[in-house]
Amino acid sequence: MNLMPELKLHRPETLDEAVRLKATLSGARFVAGGTDLLVNLRRGLGEPADLIDLGAIADLASVRRVEGALWLGAGVTLDELAQHPEVLAHYPAVAQAALQVAGPNHRAAATLGGNLCQDTRCVFFNQSDWWRKGNGYCLKYKGDKCHVVVKSDRCYATYHGDVAPVLMALGAEAVIATPGTARRAKIAELYREDGAAHLALAPGEALAAVVLPAMDGWRAGYAKVRERDAVDFPLAGIAAALRRDNDRIGELRVAITGTNSAPLMVPTAELAGRAWDDAAAADLAAALLKIGNPLKTTVVGAKYRRRVMRTAARRLIDMLWNEAARSDGAARA
Ligand SMILES: Cc1cc2nc3c(=O)[nH]c(=O)nc-3n(C[C@H](O)[C@H](O)[C@H](O)COP(=O)(O)OP(=O)(O)OC[C@H]3O[C@@H](n4cnc5c(N)ncnc54)[C@H](O)[C@@H]3O)c2cc1C
Repeated sequence: MNLMPELKLHRPETLDEAVRLKATLSGARFVAGGTDLLVNLRRGLGEPADLIDLGAIADLASVRRVEGALWLGAGVTLDELAQHPEVLAHYPAVAQAALQVAGPNHRAAATLGGNLCQDTRCVFFNQSDWWRKGNGYCLKYKGDKCHVVVKSDRCYATYHGDVAPVLMALGAEAVIATPGTARRAKIAELYREDGAAHLALAPGEALAAVVLPAMDGWRAGYAKVRERDAVDFPLAGIAAALRRDNDRIGELRVAITGTNSAPLMVPTAELAGRAWDDAAAADLAAALLKIGNPLKTTVVGAKYRRRVMRTAARRLIDMLWNEAARSDGAARA
């Protein structure tokens, strides 16, 4: 690990002050829990002259109900998220995903905003500076070619956040603060498929909150495949939300992580109105293979990641389908 680069730390007390600073200080970075950013900076992956610490902004750290929706502040820690009574009662899949991020010490500091905005990863990027220098820098930082897809004009580093796909499957929205105002966007619109520029936030924008809509009648879950069942990023992660209509699929939403440069929704509209059976599962697997694109960005082979992506999706939706049948039966009894 390198020493931290020389930098100036700013600690604004309001979000407006934070976004104004970010808009004016060229190359400045926000820091929340620091569990992603500081590790990268200690590896020499970035040398910002200014860091803007979001930790003193009280507004960012709250969870509140607003007209049937649940607002999660971007500064809420993953530990708080995993234990919050409203989250556990109405959005258990969010708690489930938060609880699978890294280890307990990380989750005590790591925030929702940092999790959603975490950097993309790659075996050719997340290395020490001497390793990268020896093996050749890459398109994501300091270099001019991608070592994963050599004849490519974009970076293929992968997004491995656990929480984003669940929020996407639940139809959540992001509240994005800009100086003097705010806008709302679907969580999927925070991202674009470019490993070197995967966040669609302007320099003066910060994630302020996530808004979860009411999800009565839905069941949702998250399946994460990782090398070790401890502190590890997803090799492939699948989130699904299902509304079962008797013996048919009312609506099914599926999102993936760990396979592409952004978390992505998988098209599932044509499954609505059908039973969840082998034929539907095969059609979903085909859609997953069309969208999911694991490449050589992790030490685990792409072929394996493609296979587990399909298997994890099948198991997860089987479970949601059966749970929904049981709870319908119980409601009728
Ligand atoms: C050993 C290890 C294991 C890990 N395992 C996992 C894992 O299994 N799953 C997983 O998802 N992650 C994992 N992580 C990554 C990271 O710890 C988490 O994603 C964590 O949630 C990041 O939150 P943070 O508050 O610490 O972010 P920070 O490090 O503070 O910030 C991360 C990025 O988000 C930006 N940012 C932070 N807040 C905002 C905001 N409000 N608006 C705009 N930008 C913002 C920062 O500028 C920075 O670029 C792991 C990290 C380590 C070191």
